[in-house]
Amino acid sequence: MSGLGPFRQLKWRIVAAHMVVVIVGVTVILLMARVTTQYLVPASVQARVADLAEAQDPEAVARATTALLDTFRNSIFTAVLVAALGAIVAGLISGLMLARQILRPLQEIASSSQRIADGRYSERVAVPGSDELAVVATHFNQMAQALEEVEEQRIRLIGNVAHELRTPLTALSGYLEGLMDGLFPSDPETFADMYQEVRRLQRLVDDLQALSRVESGRISLKVEAFALRPVVERVVSQLRPQAESKELHLATHYPDAPTAVFADRDRTAQVLVNLVGNAIRYTPEGGAITVRVETGERSADVLVKDTGIGIPAESLPYLFERFYRVDPSRSRRSGGSGIGLTIARHLAWAMGGDLTASSPGRDQGSTFTLTLPAADPADE
Ligand code: ADP
Repeated sequence: MSGLGPFRQLKWRIVAAHMVVVIVGVTVILLMARVTTQYLVPASVQARVADLAEAQDPEAVARATTALLDTFRNSIFTAVLVAALGAIVAGLISGLMLARQILRPLQEIASSSQRIADGRYSERVAVPGSDELAVVATHFNQMAQALEEVEEQRIRLIGNVAHELRTPLTALSGYLEGLMDGLFPSDPETFADMYQEVRRLQRLVDDLQALSRVESGRISLKVEAFALRPVVERVVSQLRPQAESKELHLATHYPDAPTAVFADRDRTAQVLVNLVGNAIRYTPEGGAITVRVETGERSADVLVKDTGIGIPAESLPYLFERFYRVDPSRSRRSGGSGIGLTIARHLAWAMGGDLTASSPGRDQGSTFTLTLPAADPADE
């Protein structure tokens, strides 16, 4: 197809198709006119010419001349009529053939989209030779691919949710069976363990609801200019007891000049609680966590760095995916649902910022960086 040059473009194909119809029409007209004037016209005209030659008086000459002219006119009209009819039929056939050839890819796209609408997401169309239709077909295939991926994600999500719900439910039914059979004593300790499982279910449902909100963009943000330091201080003092109970050293660093950002104060705190909470959860006793605020030109960063279990390089790209856990059993034991970071990153994005993670590797600690747009000094 590459050798077709401009005929790869639909525009030139349509022009060429019209030209073919015109050329076929004109050729048929010429041919038919030629055939009729060569074989039909001479026979009838010759008879009239003979009449004219034999005419004796002026009246007979006039009659023969009129008859000759009529015959000539009729012959020409018949020739043109036959030629025109031939051209119409030829033009119709070649036009239909060409239109079919041009429209075939569009018909294929139309029937494919119908099959996709019926739920067959693996459907793809062949990319046609003409440039414009190739663009349509390529975009169509990309759309079909995106739909297929969304469908796969949906199926995976349902599977994950079912799996997450099963763990606490299995534990709860185990406790209940044990209580009914008298294997477990009905003392406050057993009920406290059962309550932990119920809390886990509650947390999961809350997280799922929050996830659905952030992913669909249905979160109300109160975006304003505010100083970052008091928010970080509040989060750190809120989590300090937890860090101290694990004998973790929790330090903060701020730049000399105050840092103002343009974001939602409560959502920023929510993201930081998640990051510092994770740092506490995934750092063994005696480790250190540092929260550092850095001011950029148009943005500000909050870095949460720990000396904990770190993240292997192969896990980093998936860290923000729903339900992803580097070590599922460890995270689940500590009550993690694996969607905290997904929610946190969506919140950062919704505020015009970003959330990224880095780690030199397993057992070498990790750093999470929350970036937020800097406030315009005029907004403060
Ligand atoms: P979870 O509720 O399981 O902690 P998150 O979405 O908050 O879910 O985190 C996803 C996964 O990322 C965790 O299961 C853990 O494997 C990894 N992770 C998050 N924060 C850290 C950290 N500070 N150090 C090491 N791994 C981390």
